[in-house]
Amino acid sequence: NDPLGYTGSYETIVQIKDFDASERMKVLMDNAQWFEDHMPFMDAHKKKEVVGITYNVVNVAGEAGDASPSTPIGVNLPNSNWIRVVHGSKSVSLGNIVSAYDKASGGGLLSEFAHDDVEVARSESHGALAGKLHTAMHEVIGHASGKLEDGVGEPKQTIKEYSSTLEEGRADLVALYFMLDEKMVELGLMKTLETGKSEYDSYIRNGMMLQLRRLEQGADIEEAHMRNRAWISHWCFERAQESGAIAKVVRDGKTFLDIKDYEALRGLFGELLREVQRIKSQGDYEAAKALVEGYGVKVDQAIHEEVLTRSEALGIAPYGGFINPEMQAMYVEDGMIGDVKLVYPDDFATQMLNYSQSYGFLPLNNDYIAE
Ligand SMILES: [Zn+2]
Repeated sequence: NDPLGYTGSYETIVQIKDFDASERMKVLMDNAQWFEDHMPFMDAHKKKEVVGITYNVVNVAGEAGDASPSTPIGVNLPNSNWIRVVHGSKSVSLGNIVSAYDKASGGGLLSEFAHDDVEVARSESHGALAGKLHTAMHEVIGHASGKLEDGVGEPKQTIKEYSSTLEEGRADLVALYFMLDEKMVELGLMKTLETGKSEYDSYIRNGMMLQLRRLEQGADIEEAHMRNRAWISHWCFERAQESGAIAKVVRDGKTFLDIKDYEALRGLFGELLREVQRIKSQGDYEAAKALVEGYGVKVDQAIHEEVLTRSEALGIAPYGGFINPEMQAMYVEDGMIGDVKLVYPDDFATQMLNYSQSYGFLPLNNDYIAE
């Protein structure tokens, strides 16, 4: 959500730390250096010493600005690479938002677009954890990894309009690459690599097909995250189809993607990750442009039409929006708050109108005041 690669928009998230879930994810922070050392990057692009990564799971109490009503599921700051190198970075995963999305998505899309029952069963047993781990790996290990070569400027100066989508894709690739690593089981983050396979199924399904339900027929992909899911999936699919690692199956006029060789797909994620890190580290604008424009913008019209038809029949909205809970102070005596009552309004328009009535402090027109 930052087409120029600058960071000028406003958002607020009021959150409460989830102590138990944060403790479970602490293992990622503790092992950040192991992940950095085992990145498929060129040696010159690895951080010798990963500093100051913190990661917490939080529950959202309210949001405003760019974070509302369509909310992120995780936040990683700062955006500036030099501050990251010197001081480190900080991530939060928005726990109650993630589980709300998960519960709202329903099984309909899964059974419509999954290739077979094995995929459906795998997603039912492992999908929720897979999603959480992907987000955690993306934020904590992904964005924090790698370094620029000496004398190369910030990505927003070197790879310009492609820097946002390239960075989001880089963080996704880090997550995908390690989701099929035994280390995840060893660290107790997942019980079996089936969790990683579930993430591979859903990532390819989404990047190649499902996410297109958010676009109108004929439109290009513009949003940074949607672009990165497209260029990662299409770049890997092109190679995987050739080698037989992924098959495109058409049954009764419906298209499905079937991953035949998960290890081979992992290899492709690693190969692309190494290249994307090189592009960032060296500021290679032409390569960034070729990757994004070649794989992440244009849409296959026939597939798009098919996705819209198949998903419209299920009646599930392509985007989720959130209504903020309202907090009412309960006074025990004058000026003394004894409790806070949480109220859950169920009408979006009423909440928005109420906000503008109660908090619209700025005039509609600013008067010009002559000196
Ligand atoms: Zn990100």
